[in-house]
Amino acid sequence: MEQSPLYIRVHPQDNVAIVVNDGGLPEGATFADGLVLRERVPQGHKVALTDLAEGDEVIRYNVVIGYALKNLPKGSWINEHVIRMPSPPGLEGLPIATVKPPEMPPLEGFTFEGYRNADGTVGSRNILAITTTVQCVADVVQHAVARIKSELLPRFPNVDDVVSLGHTYGCGVAIDAPDAMVPIRTVRNISLNPNFGGEVMMVSLGCEKLQPERLMPPGTIPIATTAADDVADIGDSGADANGDVVVLQDEEHVGFQSMIESIMKMAEHHLRRLNNRRRETCPASDLVIGVQCGGSDAFSGLTANPAVGFATDLLVRAGATVMFSEVTEVRDGVDQLTSRAANPDVAAAIIREMQWYDDYLKRGSADRSANTTPGNKKGGLSNIVEKAMGSIIKSGNSAISGVLSPGEKVRQKGLIYAATPASDFICGTLQVAAGINLHVFTTGRGTPYSLAEVPVIKVATRSDLARRWHDLMDINAGTIATGESSIEDVGWELFRLMLEVASGRKQTCAEKLKLHNALVLFNPAPVT
Ligand code: CA
Repeated sequence: MEQSPLYIRVHPQDNVAIVVNDGGLPEGATFADGLVLRERVPQGHKVALTDLAEGDEVIRYNVVIGYALKNLPKGSWINEHVIRMPSPPGLEGLPIATVKPPEMPPLEGFTFEGYRNADGTVGSRNILAITTTVQCVADVVQHAVARIKSELLPRFPNVDDVVSLGHTYGCGVAIDAPDAMVPIRTVRNISLNPNFGGEVMMVSLGCEKLQPERLMPPGTIPIATTAADDVADIGDSGADANGDVVVLQDEEHVGFQSMIESIMKMAEHHLRRLNNRRRETCPASDLVIGVQCGGSDAFSGLTANPAVGFATDLLVRAGATVMFSEVTEVRDGVDQLTSRAANPDVAAAIIREMQWYDDYLKRGSADRSANTTPGNKKGGLSNIVEKAMGSIIKSGNSAISGVLSPGEKVRQKGLIYAATPASDFICGTLQVAAGINLHVFTTGRGTPYSLAEVPVIKVATRSDLARRWHDLMDINAGTIATGESSIEDVGWELFRLMLEVASGRKQTCAEKLKLHNALVLFNPAPVT
């Protein structure tokens, strides 16, 4: 069906708007209000609503996203070539906890079926995860996982999957450098993700810098819930307070098969315990959701991210934990974050994380503008300021009640700012470490991104993408742009889908296709 020319202006103060029509609009296209395009404007790109003189502010989201580099008459195409990006806001003199969030009544009565763990956390899946201390063991563990899946897993029908927590850390690194704490605690906390039921088993090479006791110091692993604890049958295979470890260089191993058999024997012990886990009815407050975006376009901030923001508010009202991340995608809106901080300590922690990341980027002679991709720009996002304003919307309107440094584990409810790079894989990995039991991912350009450790619900920003990638996208938020549905409609649809997926009643598209990306650690410390 041919759609008449349509644009969306986000805020009444904006002097640019986004072209909605699939395929964009030609020169001469006339909108309902009489605005005529002076040139072709692609879908998702901006059109000037007023005459802009050189140096004038270009305003979207009621925020200055740039300055006109030349005179741009009404109806012109506004893209990255005709605007100059503003400087990032400073980190001094920011508004601190000044915004009182809107009154939001508690949302009660929503539940899901989850796996409750001994430490009180709740899993959405029942997965055996095999932790690796160093990359050297990765292929051996992959080999073992393939055999465990084919030979052992069929005997344990309550266990969903077996995953290897492979990574590229562990040796050849400056392990005593202060920032080495980031990758180390990330691997540790991933192993403790609620979906793994506290059943930690590790495979170590033996000579690596990241020794098992350094990765999992005594007392790290909570005591497992399983009543029928069968420690006795594990015999001499290495069970101790730090979890179970297979060390490939141990003299007991003669040949490759001996290593595989040791890993399989240990895996069987943990599979037996995991198999005793049962889903039970849990309040929605036990959800721990990580939200992020990737392959963003100008619709991200109009459709999918506002719908996620609405769902975020529902989750906070239900008493759940929701985290948003991606430092370079909030840096230009830091004042929005500090003003929404629940108290001055939270605001100080936000500023601390922004400063740390500014310094980190500076060490590499970069800044937050390194974030945007060619695809972002093709999708209509002129620069990181515009991208950031669309990204922050995922956080909804609630007060920010806590802050996590990269790789830290969440220990509180409410809206959390979990500082991470914006890289999809690294952000996802750090959110898994933070303890999410479900991940929500919005995309405009399209990405098959997913994780093996937690289900990933993917939300398309445009109907065109949802149509073409019908078996990869779980929800289409593009209907918001065309007026077929509202932000509230899609927000509720997403909230309900979260409960279904968390309960295991529904699989995500990526789960059905068994698509997932590798974990990618954030290592800001030197390698040797
Ligand atoms: Ca991302």
